[in-house]
Parts: sequence; C-alpha cells; structure tokens
Amino acid sequence: MIELKNIERSYKTGAGQTWVLRRIGLTIQEGEFVTIMGPSGAGKSSLLNVLALLDDQWLGEYWFKDQPVHKMNRKQRAELAKKNVGMVFQSYHLLDDLTVQENIDLPLSYKDIPRAERQGLVADTLDHFQIVGKKDLYPSQLSGGQQQLVGIARAVIHKPALLLADEPTGNLHSTQAKEIMELFRELNQQGTTIIQVTHSELNASYGNRIIEVRDGWMVKDTAHPELGAEV
Ligand code: ADP
Ligand code: ADP
Repeated sequence: MIELKNIERSYKTGAGQTWVLRRIGLTIQEGEFVTIMGPSGAGKSSLLNVLALLDDQWLGEYWFKDQPVHKMNRKQRAELAKKNVGMVFQSYHLLDDLTVQENIDLPLSYKDIPRAERQGLVADTLDHFQIVGKKDLYPSQLSGGQQQLVGIARAVIHKPALLLADEPTGNLHSTQAKEIMELFRELNQQGTTIIQVTHSELNASYGNRIIEVRDGWMVKDTAHPELGAEV
C-alpha cells in the first residue's frame, strides 16, 4: 500500500537547516498495524505528516497504492488523502468554529454519500463514542480527552483505507484508551491499515510491527530485524 524510498525532510533554522528525516525507506502492506516509536524530537510526527499526504516539503519517492505521490501537486495529494486517509492529530486539530457533530461529519462531506446515510453514520458514531450529549458544543467547550475522542471519531467515521494516529490516547483514561485500541483492532481486522505513533506499550501491543526512529533515522523495524544491526 505504501512505499517510501529515500525520504528526506529538513526545516530551515536560523543559520542553516536541520534534517529531521534521513533516507527513510519503508514498505507497508495493506492490512498492517504499525507502531512508530522513538524519543521526542526524533521525527515521528514529521514522518506521519509525510505519510498523511499533508506535507510536500520532502525529497525522495512516495508510492501510495502504486501512485507516485512525489509527482503530484497539492490538489492531487489532497484528493488522494480525502479518499483514503483518516488522521488523528496529537493536538486534535478540530475546527473551532464547527460543532462536535459538524467536525465529525467533515470527512463524509468529501464523499458522495446520500444525506440520510450520512446522518445515520454521524448518529452512530456519536453514540459509539458516547458523545451524543456534546454534539452541539464547540471544541473550546470540551476537555482535552473529549477533544481527543472527537478527533478519533472524525478520523474513523469514513472507514479510511489508511488510519494514521499521533499519540491517539495520550489524553484518555486507561479504560478509554483500551476501548480505542480495541476499536483500532476491529478496524484493522476489517481491512484498515493503521500506523500509530505512540510511547505507550499498551498501544504498541495491539500492532504487529514496531519501527523505531532516532534523530531522523529509522534504526529498527521488527519486520526487518537486519536493519537494527547495521546502525
Ligand atoms: P517527534 O514527533 O518524534 O517528537 P517531530 O517530527 O515533531 O518529532 O520533530 C522532529 C524535529 O523537527 C524536532 O527537532 C522538531 O523541533 C523539528 N520540527 C518539527 N516541525 C518543525 C517546524 N515546522 N519547523 C522547524 N522545526 C520543526
Ligand atoms: P501534531 O499534533 O501534529 O504533533 P503539534 O501541536 O505537536 O502537532 O505541532 C504543531 C505544529 O508545529 C506541527 O506542524 C509541527 O510540525 C510544528 N512544530 C513542531 N516542532 C516545531 C519547531 N521546533 N519549530 C517550529 N514548528 C514546530
């Protein structure tokens, strides 16, 4: 489903530039449940932003479902993302001027779904996440944990082919975190490919592959044990 070849990413800083992704090569098959780990500042979120088709300031090749992302313009990338990707952001990235219900409905608005079906999906999702009572509130009226749940609900409502999640349970109680991971497992079993960034051993235990990033380098991949030995 995903093939990265020699991905490099840097940011301009005062005098020069800082490299945050170095020669990343990675193949992810449809149906995998991958965990990206590593210390703070290692480049995990940067990698996720590339995978999410949000970032275009990188070098190298990115093939998504056999399509060359490195040759696409912004509009083509956005179209591909809307069709295929759900993303849970670490800092939620909810739209402040939309209600909970409207935020959750957003991914459905990109698709040609009949109105009644769309309303049904939103109602089911609000119900599943036990946030029916919050549906008309705005993000600023919610706690961090509630915002995180809304962010997850928005990412999964359209059953994306690829689900990306940056510390998806960081603000949740342990029982809620477990419920979310059970939901991810269920989606994965139904065919959704999942890539999560996390420090949580519980979250990692739900995946079937761990990738470790340090200083922008991929230093470990449990699917390719030889990688760690070289670095
Ligand atoms: P992680 O997710 O592993 O904590 P990040 O990908 O967020 O790491 O960041 C990797 C490095 O890139 C860090 O040193 C961070 O400060 C830097 N960085 C991330 N985004 C930017 C940006 N927009 N401008 C400058 N530096 C950035
Ligand atoms: P996320 O939920 O994607 O992790 P954050 O709230 O951690 O978002 O970061 C918000 C934005 O700030 C991201 O786009 C990230 O690239 C950027 N950022 C992170 N570190 C730095 C940095 N050192 N300098 C400038 N921007 C940064």
